[in-house]
Amino acid sequence: GSLGIALVGLGSYSTYQLAPALQETVNCHLAGIVTGTKEKEKIWAEKYGIPEKNIYNYDNFDTIRDNQDIDIVYVVLPNSMHAEFSIRAARAGKHVICEKPMALSVEECDAIIKACTDAGVKLAVGYRLHSEPYTQEVKRFVKEKTFGEVLYVSAEAAYRSVGNPDQWRLNRELSGGGALMNMGVYSIQSAIYSTGQNPVAVTAQEFSTRPDYFRDTDETITAQFQFPGGAVGNIFTSHNANANSLYASCTRGWFSLKPANNYGPLAGESANGILTFPHQSQQKLQMDDFASHILYRTENRAPGEMGKRDLIIVEAIYRSIAEGNKSISLDLGNMGLV
Ligand code: NAD
Repeated sequence: GSLGIALVGLGSYSTYQLAPALQETVNCHLAGIVTGTKEKEKIWAEKYGIPEKNIYNYDNFDTIRDNQDIDIVYVVLPNSMHAEFSIRAARAGKHVICEKPMALSVEECDAIIKACTDAGVKLAVGYRLHSEPYTQEVKRFVKEKTFGEVLYVSAEAAYRSVGNPDQWRLNRELSGGGALMNMGVYSIQSAIYSTGQNPVAVTAQEFSTRPDYFRDTDETITAQFQFPGGAVGNIFTSHNANANSLYASCTRGWFSLKPANNYGPLAGESANGILTFPHQSQQKLQMDDFASHILYRTENRAPGEMGKRDLIIVEAIYRSIAEGNKSISLDLGNMGLV
């Protein structure tokens, strides 16, 4: 079988990544759209052959409940709208993929998880890298201790923003935060899957060099993690400088990815040599994996608890900064580790 996906929010990620990827998927396909922009309805309907009955707006979205063509709702809206639309999708009985960052707060993540549990639907966060082969190789190194114990990890996820200062990503009400919310979640993810552990403490610093442009949101943040086994980590996230990598130093070697979190192809190296994997659309792999989880009970590679775990860390980083770079303890156990 192939499950029907409805994309909610037809901005750049839906237009240039998800819809093209859905032309290649085998376990799911583009079946519907939900848009607040009337003009997009006809464009998408013609381009992708979407029938009128599978086209919704934000007001009539809840009637998607009655549409048998739609199995999965994929929320690709500004961060402030993730919780509302994920919860409405769950209440309509649809499985949910929610883009990253999962929501504006841990509280909102809890509400999404509860709505999905109550409705008996599956929930994933749009963490495409868990379906990506270089990232999976890093996770294998860690699991099999290919290079021994990881002692140090460094992760960067950043780009230089020079566009419209009024874009939603730089508007706290819509984004929930700046570089940390947008790109920082990738460096947090990298640090965690490069050690296989959740951090037990974090200390963070914020830097601002273009306050006129970044009026409302964080520009650059660095943070240091302590892991339970004794490993330490350092992350860098920014909307002011380009950086995209991970590096792990281990007792018997090392591994690195650079780039580590763009749309690929990624590239990597280890103490054993260069890593080489064929490139496929990460979004294709991600959506096929989630559909397979629903259809065949395979692993959910990025469950809601993982998105919530990352928001707990994001909140701790903002708290560390607000409290004068204080070390904040974290009690995550194995939450979100899969
Ligand atoms: P975008 O600005 O290109 O698109 C946002 C869409 O939301 C637009 O279609 C816009 O019309 C609609 N929208 C509805 N209400 C809005 C409002 N009040 N303000 C602004 N837009 C509004 O953004 P995008 O890059 O497509 O990002 C959407 C989501 O996807 C974000 O949560 C982002 O973090 C996530 N994303 C994830 C990845 C990934 O690699 N996983 C990549 C890009 C974006």
